[in-house]
Amino acid sequence: MKHRQADENSEYTADQTHTPTDSLAWMDAELDELQARQQVRSLRETAVTAAGWLDVEGKRLLHLASNDYLGLSMAENDWPEPSPAARLLGSGASRLITGHYPAYARLEEEFAAFKQAEACLVFSSGYMANIGVISSLVGRNDEVFSDRYNHASIVDGMLLSRAKLHRYKHGDMNHLESLLKKANPNGKKLIVSDSIFSMDGTMVPLKELVELKHRYGAMLMIDEAHSSGLYGPEGAGLIHEMGLQDDIEIQMGTFSKAYGGYGAYITGSRRLIRYLTNHARSLIYTTALPPVVVEMNRYNVRRSRQEPWRRERLNELSGWFRHQLKGMGFDTGNSVCQIIPVMTGSNEKALQFSRELHQRGIAGVAIRPPTVPAGSARIRFTLTAVHERADLTWALEQMEEAGHACGLISSQTDRADH
Ligand code: PMP
Repeated sequence: MKHRQADENSEYTADQTHTPTDSLAWMDAELDELQARQQVRSLRETAVTAAGWLDVEGKRLLHLASNDYLGLSMAENDWPEPSPAARLLGSGASRLITGHYPAYARLEEEFAAFKQAEACLVFSSGYMANIGVISSLVGRNDEVFSDRYNHASIVDGMLLSRAKLHRYKHGDMNHLESLLKKANPNGKKLIVSDSIFSMDGTMVPLKELVELKHRYGAMLMIDEAHSSGLYGPEGAGLIHEMGLQDDIEIQMGTFSKAYGGYGAYITGSRRLIRYLTNHARSLIYTTALPPVVVEMNRYNVRRSRQEPWRRERLNELSGWFRHQLKGMGFDTGNSVCQIIPVMTGSNEKALQFSRELHQRGIAGVAIRPPTVPAGSARIRFTLTAVHERADLTWALEQMEEAGHACGLISSQTDRADH
């Protein structure tokens, strides 16, 4: 085949003969390898059809895999017709150029006041907040201390920062302290942790982290993606529930989970927000969220504060559901909240259990390495405030049958009723 450079005036004429090559052929081997390890993932069309229910490729399933914990994403609402400016579907520019619409300013003011913080900065997603914030707080001569089970966006933020990384054992404060003791006294130190761990449903030992942070002069950043909206007064978060809001200088959370919207926030001092506005590249170099999304977040935050029944119901259903699963003999790890894993160990078992559940009408997604450590595959079940108890009772029966079919539980165990 003869190739001729598009620019006819160019000196160079590519007239060599080429056999077409498939430059992406190497991907086949890598995908085959993933397939052999039962780790291939694929996108499936899903549609949430009614509160707590999901349609997957035409099949109706009870949705036990959503982060819409309060059921706000599809709740009937009286959202007033937004003003023309707030109705914009696109923002047309980044925040620092011309994308800082009034909706942003309102959300940041209201959210800072709610969190009893001086200031707030909205990012386009939790992923972007974590990579932008961590990589601007620490650099080459600094050190970051991160719980081994922290979310991937935290890990990516640390890698981007080029700081020295320390990943301490999950929730192990002695391990963290031993690492802090050895840190370079001339560099900055940042401790970062999820508040609720997204794949395990475990809770951070927050008081101990605060003590260590003070003792070793470190900055502390807490990611409240799975606790914001759910704990504390009006759902202000776990940090507020424990009264530690003045001790944690970098508080992060998302609008995409309990708030049923999209985007993320950082709250803290005016100085912190001013610094991030000037340094966080994932804020500076990306298009601002559409004003309509920001307005939607404002609405849902207000609503979640005014409807405590959602938090209360979620809490009650989660405790009951976990208790029932344990009673059947399932291993739910150390979960203490609305995220309830059922441990399967191997990838194969996780897929088999997920398939069995699918056949029985339940959406429970297999979580496999690298999202969780090797050998600790699981189905991650999540509850929401809008699940009906009768549907969950039916789901428990299905799960028990499926658990037997997969050999995850051995004998019929009496189920405690409460
Ligand atoms: N942090 C944690 C702990 C998360 O679980 C997630 C989302 N799974 C994120 C950050 C990222 O948030 P987002 O989905 O808004 O990008």
